[in-house]
Amino acid sequence: MARITLEHIRHAYGLRPSRPNDYALKEVHHEWKDGGAYALLGPSGCGKTTLLNIISGLQHPSEGRILFNGRDVTELSTQQRNIAQVFQFPVIYDTMTVYDNLAFPLRNRGVPEAEVDRRVRDIIEMTGLGDWAKKKARGLTADQKQKISLGRGLVRNDVNAILFDEPLTVIDPHMKWVLRSQLKQLHRQFGYTMVYVTHDQTEALTFADKVVVMYEGEIVQIGTPAELFERPKHTFVGYFIGSPGMNVLPADVDGSTVKVGNETIALDHKPRVALGASIELGIRPEFIALGRQGMSVSIRKVEDIGRQKIVRAEFAGKPIAIVVPEDGEIPAEAKVRFDPAGINLYADSWRVELG
Ligand code: ATP
Repeated sequence: MARITLEHIRHAYGLRPSRPNDYALKEVHHEWKDGGAYALLGPSGCGKTTLLNIISGLQHPSEGRILFNGRDVTELSTQQRNIAQVFQFPVIYDTMTVYDNLAFPLRNRGVPEAEVDRRVRDIIEMTGLGDWAKKKARGLTADQKQKISLGRGLVRNDVNAILFDEPLTVIDPHMKWVLRSQLKQLHRQFGYTMVYVTHDQTEALTFADKVVVMYEGEIVQIGTPAELFERPKHTFVGYFIGSPGMNVLPADVDGSTVKVGNETIALDHKPRVALGASIELGIRPEFIALGRQGMSVSIRKVEDIGRQKIVRAEFAGKPIAIVVPEDGEIPAEAKVRFDPAGINLYADSWRVELG
């Protein structure tokens, strides 16, 4: 498996762009470690597929280099890069049996038949395709075909990396959950370098040990699920990860407190910003406590979602969301307290370090 280095990658489709915003990828400069499971997460159009295709060789970048284990592969074809790919829709041979479809990538490389059989059987067991092994792929359903595609991506163990582009879109919700945890298991067992594109945060957070959050052609943060939750580097990360996302409120710094409207909120550290600077305060709904004491808030709506309640309220003239446990009390004259440990401050959308 390979360490993947992305060196000053930029990409524009068509002609060279005249403005920075014409780039589908603006500047990607990172190293992803050998054996890492990375999820590329972001909204539609943020550049996930473009980046994946640049890694696989389906797309040549306008600028920059890609290295596998320190070797420049920018000019190499997908095949020369020796990677496995799984796309959103099945790529299989309809006229072959399920077994032969799975065996194909191995036989193609001259793997001895006993080894082919051992690996194919493992994959058949993992994907639950046992009953269909001898059947032609043609007659199978879309999600069974996609399982074959997934299996073909996983069957070889000599690839530099396995790249997945929203591979579970056509799989039914229960099987999606099963396959996702099996992928995670396989990763732990064999240490594949995996890059997985998705716009579904649950999928990204359960699959990856590092989530790469992309926004408007840039990587805004690479972190563990906990880091993305607790310390979002950019307000977009706070908003995009979590349900509901982070509350972002305009604020002014005043020493080791901040003011939001007329309310003063204590911080546990002094922020490294000029006194009186206009910034934004980010706090996740889980870090706001609703009770009988604290700052004024007006409750607008309570959404009961089973395990917890989401309270929509107005605080200092701005809408906020608060998460309350299922059995949590919501007093008629409710007040709020902000947990200082859950507060992040942002200047121009980027997180300000606390002193
Ligand atoms: P999605 O989740 O919808 O697949 P994405 O995050 O994968 O989105 P990309 O498909 O990489 O995003 O697209 C990034 C930007 O590049 C978008 O603005 C898109 O319109 C543009 N783009 C993608 N492919 C092409 C192409 N072949 N020609 C021109 N522009 C393209």
